[in-house]
Amino acid sequence: MAATPENPTPAAARRKAGRHRGEGQWAVGHFTPLNGNEQFKKDDDGLNVRTRIETVYSKRGFDSIDPNDLRGRMRWWGLYTQRKQGLDGTKTGVLEPEELDDEYFMLRVRIDGGRLTTEQLRVIGEISEEFARGTADITDRQNVQYHWIRIEDVPEIWNRLEAVGLSTTEACGDTPRVILGSPVAGIAADEIIDGTPAIDEIQRRIVGNKDFSNLPRKFKSAVSGSPLLDVAHEINDIAFVGVEHPEHGPGFDVWVGGGLSTNPKLGVRLGTWVSLDEVPDVYEGVISIFRDYGYRRLRNRARLKFLVADWGPEKFRQVLEDEYLKRKLTDGPAPEQPAGQWRDHMGVHEQQDGRFYIGFAPRVGRVDGATLTKIADLAERHGSGRVRTTADQKMLLLDIEQDQVDSAVAALESLDLRVNPTPFRRGTMACTGIEFCKLAIVETKGRGSSLIDELERRLPEFDEPLTININGCPNACARIQVADIGLKGQLVLDDEGNRVEGYQVHLGGALGLEAGFGRKVRGLKVTAAELPDYVERVLTRFQAERETGERFAT
Ligand code: SF4
Repeated sequence: MAATPENPTPAAARRKAGRHRGEGQWAVGHFTPLNGNEQFKKDDDGLNVRTRIETVYSKRGFDSIDPNDLRGRMRWWGLYTQRKQGLDGTKTGVLEPEELDDEYFMLRVRIDGGRLTTEQLRVIGEISEEFARGTADITDRQNVQYHWIRIEDVPEIWNRLEAVGLSTTEACGDTPRVILGSPVAGIAADEIIDGTPAIDEIQRRIVGNKDFSNLPRKFKSAVSGSPLLDVAHEINDIAFVGVEHPEHGPGFDVWVGGGLSTNPKLGVRLGTWVSLDEVPDVYEGVISIFRDYGYRRLRNRARLKFLVADWGPEKFRQVLEDEYLKRKLTDGPAPEQPAGQWRDHMGVHEQQDGRFYIGFAPRVGRVDGATLTKIADLAERHGSGRVRTTADQKMLLLDIEQDQVDSAVAALESLDLRVNPTPFRRGTMACTGIEFCKLAIVETKGRGSSLIDELERRLPEFDEPLTININGCPNACARIQVADIGLKGQLVLDDEGNRVEGYQVHLGGALGLEAGFGRKVRGLKVTAAELPDYVERVLTRFQAERETGERFAT
């Protein structure tokens, strides 16, 4: 049975109330909400807001929305109010939340495993055109994000999405968010194991299940059997990474407790090997530990990473085995260092079945409904109609016959979707930023796009793998801490002493088996206007001074 304030688990019931009371852990008997978020979650399950949206808010309009639903529970269905237009970064954190709220919403569509059919992609494109002023960004969690959504249109959008097997269920909120999956699952010639059945089972068992809809905070997960380690497994709350066990064969290595934002931490290995069939049970055990033992007192200490850091991987594994799985797990090996330096599957690659997949790069994840519809058209014209999104704001077309590859590449390039992108197009990501995000201080997507243009013009010979990640605020939606060049948006002083948009620079972060956080370069802040000059200087110096074979991150 799930732990709830009304029904603590047997394990919870055994524990004395009061121990660790200060962290608000349910498993030690502390069920009194210690902050406003815990209170509104206790008052009513976030999933219940759907009925109110369908029957009241969509009919009576924005002003009828209960504030606890508007700024709380609506996230359980992928809805956030977007930033009121025309407010600059000086207003962020100064105005009251309601002064920043627009009456339009961001709506996130979860795409578990990044898998889409062209029928689904076409519906996503149509919704974008009809209800979202053409917006439809590909996020670094394989989702699609709309803006300009009116509450009146939400039920119809849900009808259309759900008719083709898509949803916005728990796309945001303190919930099990989208499950990342390798974009080449089931097709890559070098695949260790296809994690797709496990993703489907987790989705069936956990997503939308009220046993798991009140977590201390968000719960991010990833499953990949690709040797390229292509789902940023190090920064998820739980990740399953394909490995070959010397006795048991292909399966997964389990990582827990990764996460960026405040106090970034890389995930740690539990040192266990799990088979494909065991993945959903282990996922359920770990998310149950998070629900029951996770810290609920302070929002900025509520991610699983803090519990993992306090317990360590040995105790975490022991609690998982003893209290939740009721059996011991098999010990297992760590994944090997990936052969390639890019993990994003760009370019043309042969599949297991002799056909080809083509990875292509929009600019910083920005596409639009019309472009998505065109991608659906050309996926059908040249392939089988399967499309994938990646954890790097990119996309893939699958199942292209050899004689269709050249024409498919030409069609993508004609849409400014680069199959052989420069390192700058390939490696630059940007979060939503001040255009729509209420927390943002600076612009991101437009600036990322123009930075790509500038660097392509100034450094046409540069050919090193490189990541430039741009955030609009101190949060980590675009993973700045693990980028070669991470840019954290803030207001900075220009030469005349004016407060202008700019960035704190972090250098030398990385994912992969050499994962680590970039160094915050003390005092190094650049204004937005100086950004292209600054990045050009850093890259030129790297090219001039590097040792043979040295990567930017090293
Ligand atoms: Fe918004 Fe900040 Fe996240 Fe960017 S990093 S999307 S500005 S919260």
